Amino acid sequence: MAPELTVEEQAALTSGASLWQTKPIESAAIAALTLTDGPHGVRLAAGVRDMLTGRKATCFPPAVATASTWDPSLLRRMGEALGDEARSMDVAVLLGPGVNLKRSPLGGRDFEYFSEDPLLTGVLATEWVRGLQSKGVGASLKHFAVNSQETDRMRISADVDERTLREMYLRAFQRVVTRGRPWTVMAAYNKINGVYATQSRWLLTEVLRGEWGFDGLVMSDWGAVADRCAAVAAGLDLAMPGPVDSGDAELVAAVRGGALDPALLATAAGRMLTLVERAASRRPGEFDVDAHHELAREIAGRAVVLLKNEGGLLPLREEGQSVAVLGEFARTPRYQGGGSSQITPTRLDDALTAITAATSAPVRFAPGYKVDGLRIRRSRAAGRSAGGRDAGGRDAGGRDAGGRDAGGPDTAESLLAEAVELAAASDVALVFAGSTGETEGVDRDSIELPAAHLELIDRVAAVNPRTVVVLSNGAVVRTTPWDAAVPAVVEGWLLGQAGGSALADVLFGRVNPSGRLAETIPLRLADHPSYLDFPGENGHVRYGEGIHVGYRGFDAREQEVAYPFGFGLSYTTFEYGQASAEATSTGVDVRIPVTNTGARDGREVVQVYVSLPGSRVRRAPRELKAFASVAVSAGETVDVRLRIEREDLAYWDTRLGRWVVEGGEYHCAVGASSRDLRSTAVVDLAGDDARVPLTADSTIAEWFADARGAELLAQAFAAATDSAVGRMFANPATLELLGSAPLNRMAAFPGSPLTPEVLEKLVAAAA
Ligand code: BGC
Repeated sequence: MAPELTVEEQAALTSGASLWQTKPIESAAIAALTLTDGPHGVRLAAGVRDMLTGRKATCFPPAVATASTWDPSLLRRMGEALGDEARSMDVAVLLGPGVNLKRSPLGGRDFEYFSEDPLLTGVLATEWVRGLQSKGVGASLKHFAVNSQETDRMRISADVDERTLREMYLRAFQRVVTRGRPWTVMAAYNKINGVYATQSRWLLTEVLRGEWGFDGLVMSDWGAVADRCAAVAAGLDLAMPGPVDSGDAELVAAVRGGALDPALLATAAGRMLTLVERAASRRPGEFDVDAHHELAREIAGRAVVLLKNEGGLLPLREEGQSVAVLGEFARTPRYQGGGSSQITPTRLDDALTAITAATSAPVRFAPGYKVDGLRIRRSRAAGRSAGGRDAGGRDAGGRDAGGRDAGGPDTAESLLAEAVELAAASDVALVFAGSTGETEGVDRDSIELPAAHLELIDRVAAVNPRTVVVLSNGAVVRTTPWDAAVPAVVEGWLLGQAGGSALADVLFGRVNPSGRLAETIPLRLADHPSYLDFPGENGHVRYGEGIHVGYRGFDAREQEVAYPFGFGLSYTTFEYGQASAEATSTGVDVRIPVTNTGARDGREVVQVYVSLPGSRVRRAPRELKAFASVAVSAGETVDVRLRIEREDLAYWDTRLGRWVVEGGEYHCAVGASSRDLRSTAVVDLAGDDARVPLTADSTIAEWFADARGAELLAQAFAAATDSAVGRMFANPATLELLGSAPLNRMAAFPGSPLTPEVLEKLVAAAA
């Protein structure tokens, strides 16, 4: 709280001065702050009015790629590097990381988000935040919350049940807030169960601050505030951007007129002051462009997922093997998605150049298809991108490489023919294919590769049995049926500015692939758990699959997938020994020996999936609860230790409105993917006290499930065997039949021993 500020100054301080700046209050010596995107690079706008063009900065791999490393230490280093770049540009707060769950592979911003799993998301994002903030630059954890689609993104209500909300959509936020302690959180555009995130007191004040202890500032997403007074009352401190229509005057009038408690505005202004103070400790800095490019390359190399490698076709030899490089993406890389996270890179590596440099054998190139800017698909749902910034041109800029065939059929055919000819005349054919135009503001409408890319793969595979498909895509693409026709598939995601070199590193074995899928690749879109309820209609999207997001849903329905969550091959092989698990008061310690049984040094991502057979609540068959990316030299055995935090085993109990760890035998399955589990250790855990108070409305079964309740009820029935109804209650078979009956309904039966007086006594005694 800043007593020296007038109400007008407080209102001014809590809204933006421009697109990327907050307001200074000169009379009180309060400095303006620069806030800018974003998650994988610093996009400092070239001018104050500039939305998207930024000064040159390192374009690190987007989250779709960094998540595939499964390595928190890389995220930490990337955060530190972003911090140095932000300092060099006098940026106080970097608008990231984005930790929304990838609910559907169609999500237009999936490339900006980490995973379909909240633990993987939370662990990685926490390190990003720690790295960034260690440099004195603040993070803005976004988009809080349940912002997993672009369709109608500024109005849609995400309708989601409480348990799913807590266990899936809020869980990564909770982890990052409590462990990474970001300076700021960004409230999302959408509504949650009918209430705008920016106006939800429950979300911004009760949960975020009250339960999680957040002590930073909540800012709005850009243009997300529909009602400034309601937002301030809910706990939103800073409305961005500004200054047009930011509602300062309305806020002042509300305070003066008594409609808004002045203390609420003063609190918001006080939080702005704290942010300004925090940011003041930042030192100006420089960054080493080459070193950051190398870091971007290292992370990108670690993000590549080797999906298929029959007959050890990969890695390629550095000599004596002629290579046909086919597909425009090899020359014109797709390396980031569209929208607010777009970076103007300091350099840009393409795979063609990197491959040519990597081998002494002939390398020949044919584009195979044309890339012609980003295609904007029309919305299927009413209201998508209707006005505001979405329609304002961000997405229509065409900055991304797309994959549309620009020419007529002859052009397409001649491009194909040229590629096929090269493929037939070379020892190895590398086909670069991928998705086109993932961007903020628009969801995808398909996971199929573009027709021209599919045709290129088919035709090349038909003439060269040594065909490798290299994918560039921001979210999963369908890999069937074409992957059956080629011996090798490399998932290259969007890898940032050094992606081209990183791909060559993997293709030629300078980097032994260790990326793992952070999202399931389904056989078909229609198999996906979100399929029937995405992206909703008429202003609502129902999160119908509940807690069964991603692999949880595929596993629960025992569905085949193309490549499971956690999957990825290596150029070496790993063998797992016997897992052991030990319970401690704070969690479970898991150990397993892992041996590199091949001839190359490599990394294995060891994963622990937990299940609790016989749980009292419905659970996914297995849930990721710990993981470690471990370097293992050829022939070496590493004793891998993994820690499961007790709180990560909790489920959200809707009866008690809190987290509960259920007692029982937890199965900790350790392996190389969610569907390649090699050894299981069972550990017995004592549960939390989770006694639900018994009432007259509790059922007979609920009373009998409770030790005290069972004793009391049995006594009451035993004392009433002189009546027919009393005898009925004393009969175990009848009791089973009546198990679902609330006790108070039994009072209506003639001769029932459960009279209102008896009931009252029972409830009192059971308390
Ligand atoms: C995006 C945010 C971004 C902000 C500022 C919004 O449209 O949703 O992720 O940080 O713009 O560019």
